[in-house]
Amino acid sequence: MAEKFRLLVVDDEETLRQFLVELFVREGYEVSACGSAREALSRLDQTSFDLLVSDIKMPEMDGLELLRRVRVAHPEMPVVMMTGHGTVENAIQALNLGAFNFIRKPFAIDEILKVVQKGLEVSRPYRMGRGLLPFLRVQSLIKIPSRLSLVHAVSFQIVETAALVGRFRNRSKLGLRLAVEELLTNAIIHGNHRDESKEVTIQETIDQNKIQVTIMDQGEGFDTRSLPDPTDPDNLFKSHGRGIFLARFYMDEVVFNEKGNMVTISKNLSDE
Ligand SMILES: [Mg+2]
Repeated sequence: MAEKFRLLVVDDEETLRQFLVELFVREGYEVSACGSAREALSRLDQTSFDLLVSDIKMPEMDGLELLRRVRVAHPEMPVVMMTGHGTVENAIQALNLGAFNFIRKPFAIDEILKVVQKGLEVSRPYRMGRGLLPFLRVQSLIKIPSRLSLVHAVSFQIVETAALVGRFRNRSKLGLRLAVEELLTNAIIHGNHRDESKEVTIQETIDQNKIQVTIMDQGEGFDTRSLPDPTDPDNLFKSHGRGIFLARFYMDEVVFNEKGNMVTISKNLSDE
């Protein structure tokens, strides 16, 4: 069976949008279309697309800003930008931002079909890789000295690794980032007492259905029963239990080891 490609078309001009949808459907593509960059971002968050065709000039968020965000969230997806007449600067800016190609309005049908086809060819290896996702498990290991300035870099890396395997909504990314930052900060301050000769080890395992992160310090540990009640929202405002409260809020499970110097958080992604 031939591969069915999914395209997303974004243009605030309804006539052109309709035209492109009909054109692409006739070519055998599966097409989704919307009139604003915001709507495009929310659709990209819900479904995966093989290629994005976007207008540059749109009210509110323009196509270049959309491109900027798409490059971060979906780095492998080819993006074709459509520019108005005589706007070479825009086109160059689009390429600099990582657009696969651009076409100038008004364009010939042949021209846009060729550009789209070429974009899909280029991203083919990536799509093939995507077929492996259900069987892929990625593990990462980070060891850092007890230095607070590294906390954000670690949480960033954890989320990046998680995003590789996918099936991750933006809200979950934010939650994971916050949970990791809070617990890592706890490990550095309360566990290792900021002693830089002591390490914190962060281990991540992710597959399509589950993410698990373990954070271990070299401190004495603590009696986890002494924690403020994590189900009481009032404790959100007390410094000690706050990190753990937030982690419990965002993750499905937060489990400490007996000693209290290792915490494992996990989240089921199959119901994302
Ligand atoms: Mg426009």
